Parts: sequence; C-alpha cells; structure tokens
Amino acid sequence: MMNDFLTTDLNVLEQEHRYRQLREVESPMGRVIIRDGKEVLNFCSNDYLGLANDPRLIVAAQQGLTRYGVGSGASRLVSGHMTAHAILEHNIAQLKSTEAALVFSTGYMANCGIISALVDRDDVVFSDRLNHASIIDGVILSRAKLERYPHVDMKALEDLLKGTPITKRKLIVTDSVFSMDGDCAPLHELVILAKKYKAMLMVDEAHGFGVLGKNGAGLVDQLGLQQDVGIQMGTLSKAAGCFGAYVAGSTSLIHYLINHARSFIYTTALPPAIAEAANCAIDIIRENQEQRTQLIDNATYLRLQLNALGFNTLQSTTPIIPIIVGDAQRAVALSQRLLEKGIFVQAIRPPTVPEGSSRLRVTVMATHTREDLDYFIQCMKVHTL
Ligand SMILES: *Cc1c(COP(=O)(O)O)cnc(C)c1O
Repeated sequence: MMNDFLTTDLNVLEQEHRYRQLREVESPMGRVIIRDGKEVLNFCSNDYLGLANDPRLIVAAQQGLTRYGVGSGASRLVSGHMTAHAILEHNIAQLKSTEAALVFSTGYMANCGIISALVDRDDVVFSDRLNHASIIDGVILSRAKLERYPHVDMKALEDLLKGTPITKRKLIVTDSVFSMDGDCAPLHELVILAKKYKAMLMVDEAHGFGVLGKNGAGLVDQLGLQQDVGIQMGTLSKAAGCFGAYVAGSTSLIHYLINHARSFIYTTALPPAIAEAANCAIDIIRENQEQRTQLIDNATYLRLQLNALGFNTLQSTTPIIPIIVGDAQRAVALSQRLLEKGIFVQAIRPPTVPEGSSRLRVTVMATHTREDLDYFIQCMKVHTL
C-alpha cells in the first residue's frame, strides 16, 4: 500500500526531471574534492573562504574535543550550556556590533524558532518571494498570516503593509543575499518601510556572513545598518566553515528567545568542539579582509566572463552566480557534461526555484585560482554554445 504511493511519486519526479539523489564526496570539502575516485573542481559549496578544512579550525576543534569531549549532553537550558558556547555568543555579538547573540543548532532551526517565537496566529509576516525555505517553514510553524511580496518589490511590500491593520503585530523578513539568485535585498528601503509601518525587521545573513562587510559581519554591516535591523540571523555552516547558527540583537530579544524559541529550548546544545572551531573561524573572518577581497574579485571575474559569453546571471553581485538554463532536463544534462570535464556544479530545479528558471548554481570560493575560473569558462564555451 505505502510502496504504491512512494513509487508513483518517484516516477512522476523522474518524468519531470526533478528526481534528486545524494552524491557521495570522498574527501574533505574544498576547491578540489573527490567523487567516484576522481578529483573534480568544486563550484557548488557554501564554503566560500575554504575554512571547512582549514588547519587552524581543525586544531581548534581538536583542542575543543580534548577539553569538552564530544557531545554537549543536554539542551542549553538544562546542563548543555558550556563555556565554549558563551564565548562564541560573546564573539558573535562583538563582530555584529549588537548587545547580545544566541547560538542555535542550525540555520534552519534558528529561522523556525525565531519566527515562531516572535509572531502568532493573529500576526502577519511579510516575506520576499525568494526567501529561503526555512523562513517559510518558520512562518508556517508560527501560524501567522504569510504575505509574500514579489522579489525585492518595495512598492508591493508597501501596499501590503498599508492594507494591514495598524494594530496587528508585523514582521518583515528577508534574506540579505538571496541563496539561489545571488542578489542583495534593498535593506535601506526595508529599514524605512519597517519604521514607517512599525514592523519588526529580520535579516537572514546565511550568505552574507563572512562574505560582505568591513569585518565580514554581513550586508547589514556593509551598509552600516546595525542599529536599524532588530533581528540579524546567520549561519556558521557556510563561510565560517563549521556548523550551527546565530541570531544577534538586543539583550531583551535574546532573553525572549531563550524563553520562547522552541527549536532552541527543546534540542541538545551544539557540540562544544564545533563552537570552538566557530570561534576560531570568527577570528579569521574578522582579520582577513584580503581573503574576502579575493572572493569578490573571483566572483566578479567569473560573472563578467559568463556574461560576455551571453549567459544570463540575473542580478547576482555576490559569489552566488546563477546560470539560467530554463528547462530542468537541460540543466541536469549540462551539469552532467561539466562533471565529465571534471567540474562539479549542481543543477537547481523546481520547487527550489520557480518553474522555468532551472539553473546551474555556481558558487565561487576565495581559494579558486584564475586557472580554475578560466577552465570553467572554457568548458561552458565548448559545451553550450
Ligand atoms: C543555508 C541557509 C539557511 C539554513 O542554514 P543551515 O545552518 O544550513 O541550516 C538559512 N537561510 C538561508 C538563506 C540559507 O541559505
């Protein structure tokens, strides 16, 4: 009985070229990884700075293991809150120029926990159409009304805000860097609208943290809006090369979330050795402007070369570069051909992206060499035009 509907569903996915499967990597993360016993150039990780396998982070994690052991043994509010977590939260707040910060086990859980703690069934959440799935799931968990506005359309957002009773509690939430398009949210305008309509403003810096801003703190930092964005969320699993996530904001926000965010309360604390590695990553991020400049230079170079070949990379201005293909089957075929040439880049299809906008989602690393980028461009030239 159960097998019937499972097979039917999987057959449909296969027919529509949406069937997804796991691919095994046999090496650490990095600019070169091993798949099927073969080295391939990696253009699809979020390890922007190459920190996931950095010797300094490995040593920090090893020292953390020696000092604290492997598991944290309990949730934070019971007995799992260790010195490593306290130091990490202090460091994040300092980097973000906020009063306080709180660490969650993952970015997915942070978004679910923060949103469902701040709004309820009588409230309204205004969410960019291209926001990450974890934001949508947070809104569903909260039972609040979801108002999705067209991507970065501030006029549409203002109309929705205008049409909402003044008495309703409102939350505007946006990715800072959009995870599939690589463009940035209009944060100045969002700040103005949030003030005008008395809405809370939450920014997800999953792809901004470690990549943008003077100290690598993100887009909010780059634009000098630390005092205007009440809720700054981000993850430690992408540019920071570790695992876990954070929210940074006022002391009262953090105390409120400790008491109300269910995905913080009802789960085991992050392994302390990972918190130690994240502390090391934050020190590196703060001091390493050079590496960030290299990352942005690499992204700009690749994007301009792709545009010169006629590829549509949407409004990307970051190391996330979409190459729009349109058709799901073509995107998968292109990804397969690149793999045969030793380049690993994933095809992204609906429902992750809108129908008809299947793409290769390229992510650039600071550690990619000019030769790596030129080889990628050469392969795109030969295999698609
Ligand atoms: C990856 C991502 C998350 C989830 O973070 P994890 O730590 O991987 O769970 C949340 N928001 C955005 C925009 C992301 O890209």
